[in-house]
Amino acid sequence: MPPTTASTGSRPRRGEGQWALGYREPLNKNEENKKNDDGLNVQQRIIDIYSKAGFDSIDPADLRGRFRWLGLYTQRAPGIEGGKTAVLEPEELDDRYFMLRVRIDGGQLSVAQLRAIADISTTYARDTADITDRQNVQLHWIRIEDVPAIWEKLEAVGLSTMEACGDTPRVIMGCPVAGVDENEIIDATPQIRQIHDEYIGSPLFSNLPRKFKTTISGCSAFCTNHEIDDVALAGVVGPDGAPGFDLFVGGGLSTNPMFAQRLGAFVRPDQVSDVWAGVAGIFRDYGYRRLRHRARIKFLIKDWGAAKFREVLEKEYLGYALPDGPEIDMREGQQRDHIGVHRQRDGRNYVGFAARVGRIPGTGLARIADIAEEHGSDRIRTTADQKLVILDVADDRVDSIVSTLEAEDLRVRPSVFRRQTMACTGIEFCKLAIVETKDRGAELIDELERRLPDFPEPVTINLNGCPNSCARIQVADIGLKGQLVTDADGDQVEGFQVHLGGGMGLNPAFGRKVRGLKTTAAELPDYVERVLRRFLEQKDEGETFAA
Ligand code: SF4
Repeated sequence: MPPTTASTGSRPRRGEGQWALGYREPLNKNEENKKNDDGLNVQQRIIDIYSKAGFDSIDPADLRGRFRWLGLYTQRAPGIEGGKTAVLEPEELDDRYFMLRVRIDGGQLSVAQLRAIADISTTYARDTADITDRQNVQLHWIRIEDVPAIWEKLEAVGLSTMEACGDTPRVIMGCPVAGVDENEIIDATPQIRQIHDEYIGSPLFSNLPRKFKTTISGCSAFCTNHEIDDVALAGVVGPDGAPGFDLFVGGGLSTNPMFAQRLGAFVRPDQVSDVWAGVAGIFRDYGYRRLRHRARIKFLIKDWGAAKFREVLEKEYLGYALPDGPEIDMREGQQRDHIGVHRQRDGRNYVGFAARVGRIPGTGLARIADIAEEHGSDRIRTTADQKLVILDVADDRVDSIVSTLEAEDLRVRPSVFRRQTMACTGIEFCKLAIVETKDRGAELIDELERRLPDFPEPVTINLNGCPNSCARIQVADIGLKGQLVTDADGDQVEGFQVHLGGGMGLNPAFGRKVRGLKTTAAELPDYVERVLRRFLEQKDEGETFAA
């Protein structure tokens, strides 16, 4: 059943900009821009006008608004310090180059698709590429003149940048080893494809209150982190013994972090697309639009509660009731990342490996495509942890692929620090950043590997360049939030507020922000080393860092 359109009842005295309650007029600049013209329409203007007439021809409302619907952000002008981030006008922060986000739904790539991204990186993006923690690839230094040619190259291999950013349904995350994992509950690939094909780029959902993040996965390790997405369908065995999905709504980090609420409903595989569209429809129609910082679905479900949300979903959007369902079966201490060599259910193997903080140049991506092909694979996957996986490796090719990847500094058996450290884009390219993150994260990994070569515990260390949470600092064991701090000489320098003890899984918790727990960036390796050594000295038998 298609989602209903919003009703336009009489306007109540005060509200939060919910369309379904009659608040249809623009409520802020973002809403005004979206009302003036659908973000999807900017694609044709880029092809017909801006790519030909150049950067200066771009309408500011497109440049800083609608471009995002096609995965384009201006990157940060070089040389602007973090202290200027909040005080400069947007146009002063804008570079004339763009970040381009390629959406990779389910994290699924063929060799040809990875080669196309690598080719775009080396031809148009100065050999840059970052694997994100939402399974996308981000390229930098993109000129507006080159965007149509880039889109053609992507389209030729079935990829796109459609709704990779903006107030839209972003990439649909899925387990990188869907369909091959021995322990999988259900392969969600058909559901991801169906939603992608029916709704991505559709005007039905091209004007949401804000971004809308989805994960649909039957992974028994819950590797795509259903706890922190706007809508999540996580694999579970249903009441009649057949697999389906447990439905969660309203997860999100950044300011006011919240874990997703379980609605208690069982969703059959053939119902997933309707249920997803229903939740997206509720967000579109009842989501808060008046204040940008309250325009995520987590605020709506916090006010409504899970029971009312489910009732509205069933009565107004689906037209049928969903049965109650069992809870997902999470286990203590599950590693979610699929790193290493693992047996597939068809007898072959998948091989997960780690660069540092997701940064692999285009030439490196091309090399990975070659390595996959040389070892008989046509399937490469991105993970929710800025890592990659190659599927379908025969037993007699495993030793060769492992040694070949390791020789390229792509670790199949990484240290705990290489394996579990992530960093967001940071000040190198991000206009909101206060501090540098990518190089610092890579240096931190190298330092900790040198200082604590045998550190025995899994510990996640995530670095963000600002108070947002693109690298999930609140759910890391050690979360590092970029900000200016005062050093020993009394100078304002780049540094981090430290959050300790975050995590997901059986005992989800947001890291504690302890007053005074800050470090300068220069002292970061010393600081983290001290925290880790103290943990080893004081921990009880069997205690993990998160506990
Ligand atoms: Fe930019 Fe902040 Fe997100 Fe990092 S966390 S990518 S600095 S917005």
